[in-house]
Amino acid sequence: MVRSHNDFDVIILGAGVVGVATAYWNLRRGKSVCVIDRQPGPGLETSFANGGQVSVSHAEPWANPSAPRKVLKWLFRSDAPLLFRPRFDIHQWLWIARFLLDCLPRRADRHTAEIVRLATQSRDLTRQIRSDEGLHYDERCKGILHFYRDRREFEAAIPVAELMRRYGCDRRVIDADEVVEIEPAFADRRSEIAGATYTADDESGDAHKFTQGLARVCEKMGAVFLFSHEVTALDADRSKGEVHAVEVSGPEGYRSLRARDVVVSLGCWSAPFLRRYGVRLNIYPAKGYSATIPIEGANGAPVTSLTDDENKLVYSNLGDRLRVAGTAELSGYTRDLNHARCQAILRNARDLFPRAGNFERATFWSGLRPATPSNLPYIGRTRYRNLWLNTGHGTLGWTLGAGSGFRLADMIAANEGPRAA
Ligand SMILES: Cc1cc2nc3c(=O)[nH]c(=O)nc-3n(C[C@H](O)[C@H](O)[C@H](O)COP(=O)(O)OP(=O)(O)OC[C@H]3O[C@@H](n4cnc5c(N)ncnc54)[C@H](O)[C@@H]3O)c2cc1C
Repeated sequence: MVRSHNDFDVIILGAGVVGVATAYWNLRRGKSVCVIDRQPGPGLETSFANGGQVSVSHAEPWANPSAPRKVLKWLFRSDAPLLFRPRFDIHQWLWIARFLLDCLPRRADRHTAEIVRLATQSRDLTRQIRSDEGLHYDERCKGILHFYRDRREFEAAIPVAELMRRYGCDRRVIDADEVVEIEPAFADRRSEIAGATYTADDESGDAHKFTQGLARVCEKMGAVFLFSHEVTALDADRSKGEVHAVEVSGPEGYRSLRARDVVVSLGCWSAPFLRRYGVRLNIYPAKGYSATIPIEGANGAPVTSLTDDENKLVYSNLGDRLRVAGTAELSGYTRDLNHARCQAILRNARDLFPRAGNFERATFWSGLRPATPSNLPYIGRTRYRNLWLNTGHGTLGWTLGAGSGFRLADMIAANEGPRAA
């Protein structure tokens, strides 16, 4: 239902985990809110079947000093964790150039520190939402364990863990015995583990269930959700630096909606959508895959959330399902499932935990991470005084969603914030 014109304090474009969290914190500050999404419900695109980790410990961006060597090594492997498919697309090349620059040690350290700060705040706020609103989303509060089978990779992870501890994320270095103590599913693999790091405060859970639950809470607080509505244009006045209205197309045709402030949280579509208004975002889709394996009966599925850094895979136990997710493909906006990559994920999971569940009944999914080269999202103003950004959360949108929604709602309430683009 849409009330009359001009009704809303804030219109949020996009009902993924980031858009819905932004709606929630604006409602908590007494704003009237409308959220628009082309899908029939919340969280149906990239927030749908991700790795499930709320992971401050994952704050080190892909763009770090070891990345160029690894990417070169993987360049010609079709099942590589990170795959680059060159295209005649200037935006892809600009993204890669900036990614390489962001691999410089000082830049990577600075980005890690900023992400740790935002992720820590966000993890606390996710917990606060859970308890204030009584939300349940197959959450597990058993920490996240990064394990290594290759000694050199493990040794390379030790200074990264130390860096994180310096920034306030308690990522502890542990040995194989402690790995098995924390996660008994590793008992048969103990001899293969070179070492691990463990972050007890990290969590996991189903981002889609959370987004759905939070959208219901927002509706009860008075938010209007327009699902199955495509955002087609902005009525933007460049000379005044102001957005007057948002044009949407829904089942009943086109309509124009007005609000005091407009927030763009369109995931990786934020960049092409805003380009025509002169707002340039360096966001490129990094396609990832997940396999969801039914856990049946007594079995050997891990209950702690895990990160296999060498294969860039994460594992989260979502009650009756084991979610295994990862890989990144810079190949444009297509979401088609690559069979070889889906099977590579499943093979890794089955090799590691052969009694984890029914692998024959695994389902596959792909999503496009709205990736910035540094993995830092855009949170703040644009050249238009009432057009705000909360987008570009890359590998960490589920982790950072609650915190970035909170930060942006604060900026809107104060009517001031840094120019993000
Ligand atoms: C394989 C994989 C594993 C991942 N694992 C993790 C993890 O373990 N932990 C973590 O923190 N993060 C993880 N992520 C990242 C996380 O899922 C994303 O960062 C997050 O979902 C992005 O949320 P969003 O709200 O910005 O985008 P989205 O969820 O994509 O929301 C954007 C919304 O905008 C809507 N939209 C777009 N264009 C239009 C339009 N023109 N009109 C109307 N609506 C429009 C879309 O329908 C969509 O609902 C993973 C991602 C992938 C792909």
